[in-house]
Amino acid sequence: MELDDHAEELASDLGVDKEEVKSDLENLVSYSVPMDEAKQSLRRKYGDGSSGGGGGAPPAVDLADVDPDDSNVTVTVTVLTVGKRPIYYRGEEHVIFEGRIADESGELSYTAWEDFDLEPGETVRVGNAGVREWEGEAELNLGESTDVERVDERLDIDAEIGGNARLADLSPGDRGVNVEVSVIECEGKTIDGRDGETEILSGTLADESARLPFTDWEPRDGVEEGASLRIENAYVREFRGVPSVNLSEFSTVEPLSTPVEAREEPERLTIREAVDRGGAYDVALVGNVLAIRDGSGLIERCPECGRVIQKGQCRSHGEVDGEDDLRTKAILDDGTGTVTVVLDDDLTAQVYGGGLEDAKDHARDAMDQSVVADSIREAVVGHEYRVRGSLSVDEYGANLDATDFERSEDDPADRAADLLAEVDG
Ligand SMILES: [Zn+2]
Repeated sequence: MELDDHAEELASDLGVDKEEVKSDLENLVSYSVPMDEAKQSLRRKYGDGSSGGGGGAPPAVDLADVDPDDSNVTVTVTVLTVGKRPIYYRGEEHVIFEGRIADESGELSYTAWEDFDLEPGETVRVGNAGVREWEGEAELNLGESTDVERVDERLDIDAEIGGNARLADLSPGDRGVNVEVSVIECEGKTIDGRDGETEILSGTLADESARLPFTDWEPRDGVEEGASLRIENAYVREFRGVPSVNLSEFSTVEPLSTPVEAREEPERLTIREAVDRGGAYDVALVGNVLAIRDGSGLIERCPECGRVIQKGQCRSHGEVDGEDDLRTKAILDDGTGTVTVVLDDDLTAQVYGGGLEDAKDHARDAMDQSVVADSIREAVVGHEYRVRGSLSVDEYGANLDATDFERSEDDPADRAADLLAEVDG
C-alpha cells in the first residue's frame, strides 16, 4: 500500500480529515518511523475508540501474556541486553537499540527506534510499547510514543543479565552479545555495498566451546589471525544455516592479555542432533554412505552463477557454455538420521582417485560421463566415514558441506572383509 492509501484508511477509521492525517504520516515516515508504528501513533493521537477510548494508556501486562496480536502494552521489566546497530530503512541509515527484556513471567525481544539510554540490569516501566510479531514470537517496539521510566525495584527474574555468552550458546537473532574469542581465520574482502565497494573482514572465531564464522562490517585494527579478543555489542545472524557473529561500527574490540583457548576439534554430533539444531558450523559426523545421489561425478556448472546445469541450460541464465567440475553428493546414515554430504572437487578427486582431467579422459574413453559417478559409488558406498563440515537445513533436506571426508578407522565393511580374508585363508 502507498502512503496515500494508508492515510485514506486511517482518516476513514478515525473520522478525521485525510490531508491532516497524511501530513502527520509523512512527517513520521520521514523520521524513519516504520509505517505500522506511525499508524498506531496516529490512532492514539486522534483517539481510536478501539484502544480503550481517548488514547488511554494500554493495560499493564506480564511478558508471558503479551500476544503477537496485541497492539500496545505497558510492561515493567529488567533490561537484559542492549545492542546498538545501524540499519537501513527507506534508504537511510538509522540507529536502533535492541535486545532482550525479562520479568518474573518470561522474556521477550525488543527494538527501540529511539535512544532511551537503556542499560543492562536496570528495571524500567515501558509505557505504551507497540507489539509486533517476529518469527512467531511477540516483540516489543519502543518508539516515539513509548515512555520509559526507571523503577526502583528488583524483579525476581530467571535470566542472565548482560550479553556475555559462549559461542556454542549463540543463536541467530541474538543482540548485544559479548564474547571472548580467538581469531582462527581472517581475510579482507571487497563487497558491493550500499555505498559502492566496501571492505569487510570475514573468517572464523573460536572459544573453548565452539567455532563460528564472523563478519566485521567496519574492519578495524587488531581483528587478525591469532588475536585473542573481547568483542562487545555484536549481533548474530544466520549465514548458510549457522549462527554468524557480526560486528557493526558500534561493536567494540579489546585485545585480551590471556590467550583464549580455541576449540580445535569439531563437535561430534549424531546426525539427528545436528539436523535438530537447524544447522551447525564445523561439526563431525560418523556414518555409513548409503548411496550417491544424481548430480555426482563429472558435472557442468554455469560460468555466471556456478549452479550445476543440465544439458547446457542454467535455471537463471538459460543456454550457457558450461564449465566442467567434480562433485559428490553422498547420503550418510548413522542410524539416527541421514544427511547429504557434499564433497567439492578436491575431496571428490580424493575418493575418485583422480582429478578433473582424469575424469574427462575416463568419460571420453567410455563415451559416457556417468562412469565417473559409478567409480565414486564403488569406492564409497557401504563404507563408514568420518565427515567434518558445516550443516545447513532447508525445505529440501539437510546438507553438509564437507571440509574433511575420511574412511573411519574402524570401518565395519573393512572388519567384515578382514574376517572373510581370514576365513578364506
Ligand atoms: Zn547461471
